Amino acid sequence: MNALQAEIAESILKKVGQRILPDLSEFETIFSDSFSRYRNELLKMADETRRKHVGDDVFLRGLIEFSNYCSCACNYCGISSYNRKLKRFRMTADEILNTVKYAYEIGFRSFVLQAGEDKFFDENTLLSIIDRIKSGFDCALSLSTGEWPAESLRKFKNAGADRYLLRIETSDPVIFGELHPDSRWEDRDHCLKDIKNAGFQTGSGILIGIPGQSHAVLYSDLKYLIDLDPEMIGIGPFIPHPDTPLGNEKGGDIETTITFLALIRLYLPDSYIPATTAMGSIHPEGRKMALMAGANVLMPNVSPVENRASYELYPNKICLNDNALKCTKCIEGWVGEIGRKVNMGYGHIVRNSSSGRDKSRPYG
Ligand code: SF4
Repeated sequence: MNALQAEIAESILKKVGQRILPDLSEFETIFSDSFSRYRNELLKMADETRRKHVGDDVFLRGLIEFSNYCSCACNYCGISSYNRKLKRFRMTADEILNTVKYAYEIGFRSFVLQAGEDKFFDENTLLSIIDRIKSGFDCALSLSTGEWPAESLRKFKNAGADRYLLRIETSDPVIFGELHPDSRWEDRDHCLKDIKNAGFQTGSGILIGIPGQSHAVLYSDLKYLIDLDPEMIGIGPFIPHPDTPLGNEKGGDIETTITFLALIRLYLPDSYIPATTAMGSIHPEGRKMALMAGANVLMPNVSPVENRASYELYPNKICLNDNALKCTKCIEGWVGEIGRKVNMGYGHIVRNSSSGRDKSRPYG
């Protein structure tokens, strides 16, 4: 690295530290080889920001994958309707409640209900499940059940659901359309606004390394997420699934994923960011690396073990055979090794004006 490159790198770090958005060329530099000596500094800044704004706890959310039926044929997703090899399953409401009970007895107080776009679970069915969980268990509940009309979202919120997760996946409508032949970017974006308006703690995020994603697109993803300002942000590497049309594409890499995650922590300092299972699936230390670069949430799978292999959104997904108790013990161990501690409480996101985004001072 020559003196000029070092000067540029230092000036970028300074800007990021002051939460001033870099321009596109500076953003590209962050992901270039010439910045590699400075990347650790960036990750350390993100880790320190995480510690200062959301503390050392690593919040566990018990993930329940309750149906792998999906009416959509997204080109990258292992459970899309495109995948005819997949054995499909739907849990009954009683099975879902029993799963919550089992994980609750282990100590979980926060759950995520996730499924494909399966309208077998219509509005009333979901409302009844939300009501049974929230009236039977003292817990926080997140939904990750695709796009719904504003009115349904309001009903889910009124029934007691606390959070809603819906990834935008990319800020580029053209790429979005290529990945999701059954969905429109504008509808996804609109639905996210409806989720926020319904009063949910809102989660969104993107995929790293999808075909067509240039640094300019990634830059626009960062700006999109800063502008949306969700309480939770999930960043996952794209992992090609062999039984999908994108099965032969190159996947997202861990360095880009972790670097982008660190930027999210720095620009949205009080957000809750999971160390995603996908990160752990592309690198043995992936989730640990994420926790050391700004992440503060883990979402262990508490679904019945017999269903796990059929919810393979991408190949080589980790922890398919570990029951919730074994998984929790394992997580407590390695989280402790990095000097952090597991928190199995509600994990509600507390926003305070001094740590959240100051809307009167736009970035950049
Ligand atoms: S990404 Fe979501 S909507 Fe698309 S196929 Fe997979 S589960 Fe269905």
